[in-house]
Amino acid sequence: MALLQISEPGQSPLPHQFKRAIGIDLGTTNSLVAAVANDGTAAGGIANVIKDAEGRAILPSVVNYGTSGVQHIGYQAQAIAADDPHNTLASFKRLMGRGLKDISDTSQFKIVTPSDASDKNDVIRIATAAGEITAMQASAEILKNLTARATDALGGAIDGAVITVPAYFDDAQRQATKDAATLAGLNVLRLINEPTAAAVAYGLDKADDRHIVVYDLGGGTFDVSILQLSEGVFEVLATGGDSALGGDDFDLAIVAWALSQAEITQAELSAQNYRRLLVDARNAKQSLTDNASVGLSIQSSTISWAGELTRDVFNQLIDSLVTTTIAACKASLDDADLTASDIADVVLVGGSTRVPLVRERVAALFQQTPKTDVDPDQVVALGAAIQADSLVGNRSNSDLLLLDVIPLSLGIETMGGLVEKIIHRNTSIPSSRAQEFTTYKDGQTALAVHVLQGERDLVSDCRSLARFELRGILPMVAGAARIEVVFNVDADGILDVSAKETATGVSANVQVKPSYGLGESEITEMLKASYTHAGEDRDARMLAEQRVEAEGLVEAVKMALEQDGELLSDDERKVIDAAMGKVSELALLSDSQAIADAVAELGRVTDTFATRRMDQSIRTALQGKSIDDVADGSL
Ligand code: ADP
Ligand code: MG
Repeated sequence: MALLQISEPGQSPLPHQFKRAIGIDLGTTNSLVAAVANDGTAAGGIANVIKDAEGRAILPSVVNYGTSGVQHIGYQAQAIAADDPHNTLASFKRLMGRGLKDISDTSQFKIVTPSDASDKNDVIRIATAAGEITAMQASAEILKNLTARATDALGGAIDGAVITVPAYFDDAQRQATKDAATLAGLNVLRLINEPTAAAVAYGLDKADDRHIVVYDLGGGTFDVSILQLSEGVFEVLATGGDSALGGDDFDLAIVAWALSQAEITQAELSAQNYRRLLVDARNAKQSLTDNASVGLSIQSSTISWAGELTRDVFNQLIDSLVTTTIAACKASLDDADLTASDIADVVLVGGSTRVPLVRERVAALFQQTPKTDVDPDQVVALGAAIQADSLVGNRSNSDLLLLDVIPLSLGIETMGGLVEKIIHRNTSIPSSRAQEFTTYKDGQTALAVHVLQGERDLVSDCRSLARFELRGILPMVAGAARIEVVFNVDADGILDVSAKETATGVSANVQVKPSYGLGESEITEMLKASYTHAGEDRDARMLAEQRVEAEGLVEAVKMALEQDGELLSDDERKVIDAAMGKVSELALLSDSQAIADAVAELGRVTDTFATRRMDQSIRTALQGKSIDDVADGSL
């Protein structure tokens, strides 16, 4: 019915625009980038690791510098590391946000010694052909490389990234990671803990409250974290591990075994042959994950040895190393005041958890089969991608992982004294949500935006945060203007609200600090009120909505009568006036059903009037045009 269309504020659907979000596992040995595929649904698609042009998922965290800057990165840098050790940085994650006083063993780096002893607090700098480089800068190169990969794969600039950090990283280390991302030109949505990301990749954030152990054995580090999941919020109860224990030590154990079998010492091998043995040992180790034994040999001008390494012997070689990790798990359980039987899930992370002995020992400790379905190399990046997808706004609110949360809902006032919630309580921050509104009256040129906080439906029951006006909207018929209101809460909980009329482009905005002045008890009070008044609120909302619809309808009919009243006979006019009077009268009372009935009746009795108006407008449009014009469709 053309005459009576009213678009109600707050009822327009959410504009759903897919954003490019990535998750990055910035690892000590290896780094990866992942993204959630856009399947066009609000529920979100599946996370996948993004591969390089050669189809490799992993980017070794290695950067080689030349006089003009970065020369090689990743596998290429790794390949020339032995030939150009001073200019090739690896394992620099260990130096992130650290000063000389924090690091006991820097032997693998050519550290720039500060001229002044008081500079010991300064961030560590490493001398390279390209000048002094910090771990933060080298990390930025890794991030840049992965971002470029993602930009190609996703077909455009990245809107935001989630980067993972070890759970034990302190503020300085986290800040250094954030700085690296900024330097790489990335918009960091959030840093999240590696174990949390792994748990998210397994969908555990949607599980019931529980305790989770994340066992992460990488190339050079071992981390164990005990997480408590409570209503979707992860809390790290304890962390432990060994920052100098990983798969590299398994490789060294195999090298030592081979040397003793060949009855030689490392000194008898050239540096090149030793490096080859190290690579062979790593390959042998990885092969033993799937095979019961593997051949290994040492060949040089003076030495020729070949032997067979069985998995049983390998298990003996690494037994004490694995025992060390199990002891660290027990210590962390103690720290968290838990026993192995309290643990609901064990998640395995890191390439070295592929080693069968590791899996057996972990299973024996926790008396359960650990989770290994998701690739242990990729699990952290995949979880980060899922989180990034949520934070960037591609998923519905309920899918958000709750970390830091908004304690009370935020919304704006709509017609009828109602609050339309835009960001719901318990949404994790930072968060950005947009919603479209429209004008209520014909010719409306300004819009009052009233920002509110609270769970109740009526403005009078919520807390007013700010008011501002959007002026200069072009006069249009009611419902034609498209006003996009965007709520943006940053990581510090600061709310920024902006409103923009999309046709004219006029905009206005205001910054508010939502939690300011609200204590814990006030928040609890407001929440309690919203539960106890839920039924009452629902009725009040229904009534207010009915009233808005009724008043809008009466307004529109009046306008039409003014313009085209002559199309009606006196009798017809009387019927409409009566129906209109009834609607206006009932809108003052509190029976929403009666209002709804009267509105329906008014719609019915104006039906013919609407048809006549339409016919007339077509006739007016046709005046002065020839039939040919009409047939051409050139109206
Ligand atoms: P980080 O977290 O330190 O960056 P990763 O999680 O990528 O490291 O783990 C790298 C380690 O995993 C290396 O020591 C590598 O040899 C080991 N690894 C990878 N695949 C296997 C396998 N199939 N069997 C045993 N170890 C493996
Ligand atoms: Mg790792």
